[in-house]
This record gives sequence, structure tokens and C-alpha cells, in this order.
Amino acid sequence: MKLKIAIQKSGRLHEDSIKLLKECGIDINNGVNKLKTEATNFPLEVFFLRDDDIPQYIEDGVADIGVVGENVVLEKKKQVRVVEKLGFGKCRLSMAVPKAMDYNNVKDLHNLKIATSYPVILGDFLKNNGVTADIHEISGSVEIAPGIGLAAAICDLVSSGSTLFMNGLKEVETVLKSEAVLIANEGLQEAQQLLLQKLLFRIQAVRKAKNNKYILLNAPNNNLKEIISLLPGMKSPTVLPLAEEGWSSVHSVLNENDFWDIIESLKAAGAQGILVVPIEKMVI
Ligand code: ATP
Ligand code: MG
Repeated sequence: MKLKIAIQKSGRLHEDSIKLLKECGIDINNGVNKLKTEATNFPLEVFFLRDDDIPQYIEDGVADIGVVGENVVLEKKKQVRVVEKLGFGKCRLSMAVPKAMDYNNVKDLHNLKIATSYPVILGDFLKNNGVTADIHEISGSVEIAPGIGLAAAICDLVSSGSTLFMNGLKEVETVLKSEAVLIANEGLQEAQQLLLQKLLFRIQAVRKAKNNKYILLNAPNNNLKEIISLLPGMKSPTVLPLAEEGWSSVHSVLNENDFWDIIESLKAAGAQGILVVPIEKMVI
């Protein structure tokens, strides 16, 4: 019994999807131009597909699970279960108009011709905002539509915004924030469900580790209490005596986001020799 996973054949999500499997300790032979391959050390079959097709394949049960952008999941409206956010492929679906346009709010889109590859999401967005517009669906190079007179505005995926800028456009509304997600067929057999749980456990361990750092520092014993109170740790920090009298070595785990704030407080409390190192896997 194998779990079948669909990932993007080539494109922005391909490499990160393979990397995620690797970090989960799953080795696959990633031959170029292959449609299908198998993991060598996990009961996993990998299908390489166009991202647009993945939700349908999952709904139909051709594959059990898949990695795809939330934007595609919402656009395709297939019966699939979103299992986990994966933290890569981050982007937003935005409205953009020519730089020179006098844009104040969403009502300014009224009656405009808007080019997009996401007619369903855009349609919902306009409806929710009480705007009627002419949605023109195109499959790619949406950003050039205003420049060639095809549309007055666009609704397209953006990450840095540089593509919009280069095409003389400005971003005016965020329609949706998106990242890659793991989706699953809604009626998985028990064996597949168990394999999914196993994979998910590994994915979560990898993702938690990425958000955390291991910190080691030397603390003067007379200020140990204060230093420990600054460090959350998984249960509580580990404290070991140093060879030098009056000092201890303190080990703990820190959330990446708290890192700089805590470092400053630690230094102020007399901590020295602070080391912060990456964690590869983390199981709580
Ligand atoms: P395919 O050939 O598989 O259909 P595609 O051209 O439709 O590929 P890509 O451009 O590779 O798709 O993007 C795949 C996904 O990557 C998007 O659906 C989105 O979730 C995510 N993504 C992240 N950043 C961006 C960005 N700046 N532009 C477009 N997509 C992005
Ligand atoms: Mg696509």
C-alpha cells in the first residue's frame, strides 16, 4: 500500500515541494521529464503534474494528497481537504491598475475590464464588494494586459511587486494571501490515512524546527534566575555548571520571532558567549 502525492512538475512550487520531502527524510529519484517516481525509503509514489490539475486529481482520488497554492485550491473549488499550511510559495493575489490611474477605492473598479487567471476568486471578491466588472480570463502574462489595451486593470499573483512595477502598474487591493498547502482526498482509505499521519508528523517536526533556534549561553549564577525567566524552553531551560566557579551554561529553545528582543534582555542580564544554532527537527 502506497500513499500517492501530486506535486508541481516544474514551476515555483516544484523545488520547495521536493525539498520538503527531503527534509522529512524521504528520498526520491527526481528524474527530469518523469511523470511519476517512487520514494526509496517511504511508501510514497510521487506524481509530477501542472499545479492547476492537482485539485481535480485529488478529488478524483488519482492521487491521495497534493501540494498546491491556496490560490489554486480556492479557484478550482474542488472537494478536497486542506490538511496543513506549508510555509513556502507565499504570495498574494492583488488588483493592479496603471500607475497614472486615479484610484481611491474598490468602487473605482466598477464597469472596468479586468484581466485575470483567477476569475472565480475575483468574481467572489467583486461580488462581496458590490462591484460589477467585466472579468476577462487569460491564462498567462496577465501583467501586460493593460499595456496592450486588453484590459483596464488586472488581478494577478504578486510576491515582490517588481513585475507590476516594470509594467507600469500599481497594486491597489489585496484580494487573497496565499501559500502552499497540503491537500488530501476527502475519503482516504485507512491505510492511506495512517501514512498521511506519518508524513504530517514529519512535516510538522520540520516546520517547528524552522521557526525555532537552539540557544546556549553562559550565565553568572547570581543572575541565573533572571536569565532563566527570559527563556521559555521546551519544558524549562537546561542548566549545567561551568568549570569556572560562579557560572552556569544555560541551553534553551527560542522562537525565531522573539530572538532579537530576548537576546538584548539576556545581554543586559549578564549573559555571555551566546550561541544560537539552527534546529533540524523538533518533536514536542
Ligand atoms: P504550471 O505549469 O504548473 O501550471 P504555473 O505557471 O501555473 O505552473 P507558477 O508560476 O509556477 O504556476 O506558480 C505556482 C504557484 O506558486 C502559484 O499558484 C502560487 O501559489 C505560487 N507563487 C508564489 N509566488 C508567486 C508569484 N510571484 N507569482 C506567481 N505565483 C506565485
Ligand atoms: Mg498553473
